[in-house]
Amino acid sequence: MATKRIYSFGGGKADGNKDMKDVLGGKGAGLAEMSNIGIPVPPGFTITTDVCTEYYRAGKKLPRSLEPELRAALRKVEALTGKGFGDAGDPLLVSVRSGARVSMPGMMDTVLNLGLNDRTVEGLAARSGNPRFAWDSYRRFVAMFGDVVLGMKPETKEDRDPFEVILTAKKEAFGAAHDADLPVEALRELVSEFKAEISRRKKVAFPEEPFDQLLAAVGAVFRSWDNDRAIAYRQLNGIPAEWGTAVSVQAMVFGNMGDDSGTGVAFTRNPATGEDEFYGEFLVNAQGEDVVAGIRTPQKIGELQAKWADVSRQLLAAREKLEHHYRDMQDIEFTIERGRLYLLQTRSGKRTGLAAVRIAVEMAEQRLISREDAILRVDAEALNHLLRPVFDEAKKAAAVKEGRLLAKGLPAGPGAASGRLVFFAEDAAAWRAKGEQVVLARHETSPEDIRGMAAAEGFLTAFGGMTSHAALVARQMGKVAIVGCDALSFDYHARTMTVTRRAGGDVVLKEGHWISIDGLAGEVIDGRLETRPSEVVEVLVEKTRDARSAPTYQRFAKLLSWADGARRLKVRANADQPDQARVAVAFGAQGIGLCRTEHMFFGEGKIGPMREMIVAATPEERRAALAKLLPLQREDFRGLFVEMAGRPVTIRTLDPPLHEFLPHDEEGMRALAEATGKSVVHVEERIEELAESNPMLGNRGCRLGIAYPEITEMQVRAIFEAAIDAAEAGARVEPEVMIPLVGMAKELDHQAAVVRRVAQEVFAARGRKVRYLVGTMIEVPRGAVTAAEIARTAEFFSFGTNDLTQTTFGLSRDDVGPVLARYLEEEILAVDPFVSIDQDGVGALMRLGVAGGRATRPELKIGICGEHGGDPASVGFCHRLGLDYVSCSPYRLPIARLAAAQAALREAREAASKRRAGANGKRAREGRIARDAKAARNGKTRDVAVASPAKKRGGRRAQVRA
Ligand code: PEP
Ligand code: MG
Repeated sequence: MATKRIYSFGGGKADGNKDMKDVLGGKGAGLAEMSNIGIPVPPGFTITTDVCTEYYRAGKKLPRSLEPELRAALRKVEALTGKGFGDAGDPLLVSVRSGARVSMPGMMDTVLNLGLNDRTVEGLAARSGNPRFAWDSYRRFVAMFGDVVLGMKPETKEDRDPFEVILTAKKEAFGAAHDADLPVEALRELVSEFKAEISRRKKVAFPEEPFDQLLAAVGAVFRSWDNDRAIAYRQLNGIPAEWGTAVSVQAMVFGNMGDDSGTGVAFTRNPATGEDEFYGEFLVNAQGEDVVAGIRTPQKIGELQAKWADVSRQLLAAREKLEHHYRDMQDIEFTIERGRLYLLQTRSGKRTGLAAVRIAVEMAEQRLISREDAILRVDAEALNHLLRPVFDEAKKAAAVKEGRLLAKGLPAGPGAASGRLVFFAEDAAAWRAKGEQVVLARHETSPEDIRGMAAAEGFLTAFGGMTSHAALVARQMGKVAIVGCDALSFDYHARTMTVTRRAGGDVVLKEGHWISIDGLAGEVIDGRLETRPSEVVEVLVEKTRDARSAPTYQRFAKLLSWADGARRLKVRANADQPDQARVAVAFGAQGIGLCRTEHMFFGEGKIGPMREMIVAATPEERRAALAKLLPLQREDFRGLFVEMAGRPVTIRTLDPPLHEFLPHDEEGMRALAEATGKSVVHVEERIEELAESNPMLGNRGCRLGIAYPEITEMQVRAIFEAAIDAAEAGARVEPEVMIPLVGMAKELDHQAAVVRRVAQEVFAARGRKVRYLVGTMIEVPRGAVTAAEIARTAEFFSFGTNDLTQTTFGLSRDDVGPVLARYLEEEILAVDPFVSIDQDGVGALMRLGVAGGRATRPELKIGICGEHGGDPASVGFCHRLGLDYVSCSPYRLPIARLAAAQAALREAREAASKRRAGANGKRAREGRIARDAKAARNGKTRDVAVASPAKKRGGRRAQVRA
């Protein structure tokens, strides 16, 4: 049977349901589910994402065979609404909307009021008794169709929207201040002028036949999957290009039918803070797009009660029903047509990290969801929001007292940001690329601005509410944002922003001026303001706040304690200094996974002896310089052991090429010559000798330790002396000495021998031993491939996925920028492999490494210490690979803890569902066998299905006869 391409909904039932997002898109699945549970939705149908794939495969053409299916689906909508598509007497109008499996707000296109033409508009006018409404809908439709389907875009950068130009002229001609003041006759003129402009620019006539309009609009929505905005959004969110979008076609209901109509959007809980309150806004006599576009600032949802008590009651009931049904915070769109409520969309609402944690924890406590669900609900990356700085209240208060509070708006994205003002998204991206910190301020933002928004510290808009584009994007990207700040106005030509103030006069700010925005209080402050740590950081790291008075911290801690109970992977930190170790422990580190000893050499008083060591002419000179470094390193290590209080500490021997430590300017070389008593020529020669054309693939890692074993000796001596010092002071210690960049077992054998020899020497000298391990990083492909051999010596492995990615791709981690940008743009890569593990390539090598290592040493401890250790998707991969721990930067530990728990829970759920499927299959088989046996006993003959022993022996179908 051919696959079903169209799924109908409405009239209290639907072909699809909420679990069919892959096929119907989020919007289509939501509409189907709402129909199924008795929420009023206008009827319609969804064309599947598979049809989108067919469309692209056929060279952007709709399959011919779709047409009869579309006509049949339309007939069902006609039957449910009692209207006719193209019927001049009582026309059915539809909306045509995109809907991918995950919501991509505003990125793709929509066409509303489709089905209008010169005949049906009269029918709509007569039926509604409101010709102005009918003609207003028609002119909106022509403009939208022209824009979305026919590509009526401005021809140059300076050019304005062609329809907007005609509209503005019309308003002037009729002396109308707003669109709403235009009389019917003006709207009629607009329709014909819009159509004339279309044929002038596009050389095509506007299609009058509704079915042609529909086919063209469906194609256009499919095409919008590949517009620049959608591509940029996919790149930012790692959405594969292959998914495609579904298209939902739905009977129009009108929120712009007069003062008894309206439209709105709402969240079943507050999306910024997570508070359990109905949160949203609506506009009287408007269409849905007006709210989302943020063109008019809407009214609060609470005001609905006073206006339309009955609708308000129905809406609250829908809130309750949807939240209980989905057991998640929902983002809904609704329309009231002449006092009747319809829901047009429900989807899981985007929320700030702050809100995500609060909603998950509170829903678990309200027993709406389980603790496991709560863990799975929070996007691990979103925990970052709770660690982000806020303004120092005292400093902000002082700024306000000085009169620097410029304006107030709606707090759409929590956090604190300071930056220089820019007014164009392109400038935000360009300034950011030059290293500037910017705040993007605009009248409103639109999906075109997405790249610039990603580059800005935060954004500020004059128009729009909490559901405007800027607000949605802020929540999703985790940016600081203030919207609807109506004291602001912009002169884009002059590149200035004017703040109208009740007192103190207007202020004009130029591009580049520093401002600060508080996304929790909604306050815009003149100048640069210092920030202070978030509540969580104050409690955990700074220890300046009492946990009992920190509700955000408490929810954060609760969620993470649930996560800790669910995860198998351990978490460690990459930390080189005692203070970093302290932060790591506060954030839950169970050890240090990577101490990069080279970072220590840049500390106070260390770079001098380090340089002496490098320019030394003989091993004796080198040893003398190393002797100066020894006590300094020992002190660093001792600090780490003490802070980590018995948790394992992995210390890596020197890794980077030596020339990284040397001066490269003349003055520096002269100073070094003077300090070491060498000639400038000697220093220059030494630097030249160390220079490599490909340092990342040169004399670094274990190769250094092999070339200069005395360096390894000094480091190992420092490690064990520090360990014994710490042990003597009462600390438990567990050093793990790690050798970098090993590709051959003999490299490790060489260095491990040095480690063990020096350890014995120190133990003998101090009369005390400590337990320790010697292991290696697996960070070049050969290391992964020959892991079995390497594990004969290695007592642990740690994947250095930064270098492993570099060497697997053959792509320099230092110069990857331009290649990466191009590859992401061309969608050759879906995500940056230096951020999230390339599971097919690098991951395959890791799999080999794990298998090889554990084949030799079944108990081999294996971790990861590349940057990927703090990336949720990579953490999940490491869990599935069976690693023992992930190691990441201290501030990413909460993310790693949550991601590790999520991976464990997902795995358990998958296993349970497989078991269930297996049990069902077994039950079904047993049922069949029992039925067959019964049939046999009754003397009947029956076909025996699968799994019958007779089948195995007797070919395709065997017959059993009693
Ligand atoms: C790695 O290569 O992944 C690693 C952790 O080492 P580094 O980044 O110091 O090269
Ligand atoms: Mg490395």
